[in-house]
Amino acid sequence: MLQLCYYFITNKVKKTMSNYTELIKSFTKKDYEEKRVNLHIHTVCSDGQATPSEILRQAKEKGYKYVSISDHNTLNAYFSNEIIGSDIIIPAVEFDVWCGYVFMHLLAYGIDVNNEELQKFCAKTKKGTELDIIRIFSGRDIKKLIQAVHNSGGIAVLAHPACCWAFSMDKFIKKLISYGLDGLEVYYPYKRHRGIIKFHTVHAIEKLADKYNLIKTGGTDLHSFEL
Ligand SMILES: [Zn+2]
Ligand SMILES: [Zn+2]
Repeated sequence: MLQLCYYFITNKVKKTMSNYTELIKSFTKKDYEEKRVNLHIHTVCSDGQATPSEILRQAKEKGYKYVSISDHNTLNAYFSNEIIGSDIIIPAVEFDVWCGYVFMHLLAYGIDVNNEELQKFCAKTKKGTELDIIRIFSGRDIKKLIQAVHNSGGIAVLAHPACCWAFSMDKFIKKLISYGLDGLEVYYPYKRHRGIIKFHTVHAIEKLADKYNLIKTGGTDLHSFEL
């Protein structure tokens, strides 16, 4: 009985904010490279091809320790029972947002998907989760968005930073840190995705993460079917 209680308590604790943060901090470059962890996956809930349950099935089959479904501007993947019950999923979402003249994607991890403040930042229509042309007109306020991510128990991570068209990446990241940014998506397959619109090197991004003591995350930005 005691053991059973312990199981339920630890399982519950595992899902709280700081624990997700600690968990994400514990992932290494190797975890991402050797396909044990993938924190950037899109599903049919935005512009991906696989359903959330299909992603979960493949993740289990391929022996992933943790995965995050991070659809554009929507938390809909998290409202299916199968996903809610899974302990290999770290709840996430990827928001379109402008920071001054720089258009960027902000990943949020370890969030409470039922948080109403955060839900207000989500797209109101399906097109707002799919089409670049609509998503670029995002009216989100970066400061308020990061605040909402924190209020919902999560951390805010700049997605694929090398794609951001900022004159000085250092100044840009410093500005985001002043708004509360927690991490950078360092481990990202730029060669496969967004190769053409890359303005900075992965090495430079990693150096900045270390310089400002930011959490380093990674993922493949999967939009196709196979994980
Ligand atoms: Zn993105
Ligand atoms: Zn993405």
